[in-house]
Amino acid sequence: MNDVAAHGPLLEIRARMARAEAAAGRAVGSVTLVAVSKTFDADTIRPVLVAGQRIFGENRVQEAQAKWPDLRRTFPGTTLHLIGPLQSNKTAEAVALFDVIQTIDRPKIAMSLASECARQGVRRDFYVQVNIGREPQKAGALPEDASGLIGLCRALGLSVVGLMAIPPADQNPEPFFTALCAMARKAGLPRISMGMSGDFEAAIACGATDVRIGSALFGGRPQA
Ligand SMILES: *Cc1c(COP(=O)(O)O)cnc(C)c1O
Repeated sequence: MNDVAAHGPLLEIRARMARAEAAAGRAVGSVTLVAVSKTFDADTIRPVLVAGQRIFGENRVQEAQAKWPDLRRTFPGTTLHLIGPLQSNKTAEAVALFDVIQTIDRPKIAMSLASECARQGVRRDFYVQVNIGREPQKAGALPEDASGLIGLCRALGLSVVGLMAIPPADQNPEPFFTALCAMARKAGLPRISMGMSGDFEAAIACGATDVRIGSALFGGRPQA
């Protein structure tokens, strides 16, 4: 289990990230890869762990609970990010399982997470999710509500480290990436989670500190 067996797609993504970092004049290796393992089973995830990847993203609390406790016992030091919408009746489980929660999108969730962290006696890192394209079907705080929500999180004692967003699928993502970066800078937040399989190089060019990559690493997912 300690052998580091190469994983082709992981090597390829790391190489593409390095090229994008260098092209943007950023330090190679400075952008964090969050491997998005949603819908993939433990047998598909394990080779990526064996190859050395230790940061993963999941979008559903229950699915992550079923897969990760075992994998984590085998691969200590694995960090899990929640990247999907959170319901307030799931915050206890989310706080217990995830190291980082990227999807605070409304005051109710912030308050519920703060009381769960206090109750469980743990600290977690959080991102506020911004609905950067103002899309009705998408989660995230509207851009004009984000700074109030960040302020509330801080007042509640939550460690807010960054912003997360998913730009509209059918448009050039760059203006949205740039807007998210500007918001993070203004709020004094160092982390910016943006960029997926189809657009992570553009996200790195625009200042992403975390890219969330699923299908380019694990293969196609069945349609939801
Ligand atoms: C699924 C998902 C990703 C990864 O998407 P790919 O296109 O498969 O890389 C990234 N972020 C979020 C929030 C997701 O739900």
